[in-house]
Amino acid sequence: MTMQLHQTPILDEHWQGFELARDETFRYVWIWQGSNIRLITLWIDGPDYAYEHGWCYPRDPELVAKAVADWDPETQDEPTGWHKRPTWPTRQAPRREENPHYNRPRCEHGSYFLDDGCRVLNCRDLRNHEDRTAAATPQGER
Ligand SMILES: [Zn+2]
Repeated sequence: MTMQLHQTPILDEHWQGFELARDETFRYVWIWQGSNIRLITLWIDGPDYAYEHGWCYPRDPELVAKAVADWDPETQDEPTGWHKRPTWPTRQAPRREENPHYNRPRCEHGSYFLDDGCRVLNCRDLRNHEDRTAAATPQGER
């Protein structure tokens, strides 16, 4: 299931965006979304009114194109370079076990928050993790 990159992005009339690549299952399309660009994954055989996963990028089409070109959806859960994941649950690559370092948990802002924290104040994922960790720690060890 190899992703095929298009030499030139293909205009998607329905989504008013551009298809950058596709594989046997998904089309990878970016759309304008408010002050962002959103990269979305669309089922090739699925409904055309909904997408499976999405990631928000700055309004820079070349940045998104590079992120998709550098991404191996077979072994990498998510692309890089985004700052917000508006969809849930997080995508899991079919062969994600081949790249455990890359596929460490990321918060909704794209940070490897368990190792590096998150630059976003009050990151919900980081806060939830700290709450769970505190709850699992016996009182005397805090
Ligand atoms: Zn975060």
